[in-house]
Amino acid sequence: MTPSHDRDDRDPHPHTSRVRLREALANLPSYKPGRSAAGSSSADAGPVFKVSSNENPYPPLPGVLEVVEEASRSMNRYPDMFATGLVDAIARRFDVPAAHVATGTGSVGVLQQVIQACAAEGDEVIYPWRSFEAYPIVVGISGARSVRVPLTVDARHDLEAMRDAITERTRLVLVCSPNNPTGPAVHHDEMVEFLKDVPDDVLVVVDEAYREFVRDARAVDGLALYRRYPNICVLRTFSKAYGLAGLRVGFAFAHDDVADALRKTAVPFGVSGVAQAAAVESLNREAELMQRVESLVKERSRVQEALRAQGWRIPHTEANFIWLELGEETDHFAEKCGEAGLIVRPFGGEGCRISVAEPEANDLLIRIAAEWRG
Ligand SMILES: *Cc1c(COP(=O)(O)O)cnc(C)c1O
Repeated sequence: MTPSHDRDDRDPHPHTSRVRLREALANLPSYKPGRSAAGSSSADAGPVFKVSSNENPYPPLPGVLEVVEEASRSMNRYPDMFATGLVDAIARRFDVPAAHVATGTGSVGVLQQVIQACAAEGDEVIYPWRSFEAYPIVVGISGARSVRVPLTVDARHDLEAMRDAITERTRLVLVCSPNNPTGPAVHHDEMVEFLKDVPDDVLVVVDEAYREFVRDARAVDGLALYRRYPNICVLRTFSKAYGLAGLRVGFAFAHDDVADALRKTAVPFGVSGVAQAAAVESLNREAELMQRVESLVKERSRVQEALRAQGWRIPHTEANFIWLELGEETDHFAEKCGEAGLIVRPFGGEGCRISVAEPEANDLLIRIAAEWRG
């Protein structure tokens, strides 16, 4: 047989191949880059605010930038593979054994490690829906089946229905609190009740990406659950409250065997030395960072109240974003926002998620929302 590279009838600039890709990927969305605010301006040439990714609007603290610069001097070297310094700092900060901490490239990276560790073809992963967009993707990549349980009418997890969805094939249940993109937190007592009915060989992941923004005392405390239940894994991130979204560093609390599995499924050297150093320094400067979080929480209340006064029905949010249920008007509203310089995140046919950001961006949202109703 003639190897194909010897034939001369090949397209000299091929775009596709005949490579056999895994079937599990066929149903996954292809990457569509989001719009960025950089270098753009609105129709009326005012500033453009990107409030579509729940990022922290504050620039990095000078002290964090300093350690980043220092760490970048050794970027010719591989980082500490197990992020020992960071793991120790997290373990001290949260009073857990270092063996119970696993890190990854953002908490989405850690979630992928969790799913790789627990689920594959033939298994089922239960999660609420609508919830975090990454869930169907990471589950899909694993080959496991997504079992989506619709939210309640007030945009909260339906834990009873999630419990009823558990079968012999269930390997994982994902709980997102506060829920992205709708905002409500799961309540602690609801979770304790739910866990009574979850088999102890099923891992329950509590994704607390917005934990630092939670003010409701009834909200689930993932760390407390982890201390009590061996089948709980808590996901946390430096991306939101700590303002390190661009550096990709997240972590999990889990018991020995699970945490060990998360280290096995991690991308080797995934968390860069720069990211490790910035995360450690962010823990050192937590008090300062949490003042910023407090300002965002105050802005959240202000925006929520202003929009409700305009007549909007908004699910109670414990995160750094607001959910506007717009149904068929979703894309139209997002377009109007875009024209005015506010880049929001539309979920076609359902609603828009808008991050609480700097006061100017929040004022702009309040203005656009008022005009929309007027
Ligand atoms: C933003 C977010 C994350 C964090 O993602 P990183 O990978 O840590 O940047 C995780 N879960 C949810 C629900 C989120 O909204």
